[in-house]
Amino acid sequence: MARYRTLKHGDPIPPGEPWRVTTIDGYVLLRWKVGPGEYVECREHRLVAGLPVGKVVHHRNGDPADNRPENLEVLDSSEHSSRHAAVQPRTLNGFGFGTFRGTAQAP
Ligand SMILES: [Zn+2]
Repeated sequence: MARYRTLKHGDPIPPGEPWRVTTIDGYVLLRWKVGPGEYVECREHRLVAGLPVGKVVHHRNGDPADNRPENLEVLDSSEHSSRHAAVQPRTLNGFGFGTFRGTAQAP
């Protein structure tokens, strides 16, 4: 049976190119095979942001697959909630719901 482990702050990044998967909520998941039936996984935006402990990695432009460092922001969960509250009026102002799809539940 396959075993999956999430990469944590301070873990060495496994060697080799990871497999890139887009999750159903639009995030990019990296998956390394580290042994027979053994995998290490990490969401790309968290890795780019340095795997911050107890913090939320926010996508400034609302696109969960846009993991350029300049699009990412490391926030406390309360700061993060207020950031999302702040973008709500823009979605109602013709920005289109598609642009912000999935961000309401962004971890
Ligand atoms: Zn966010």
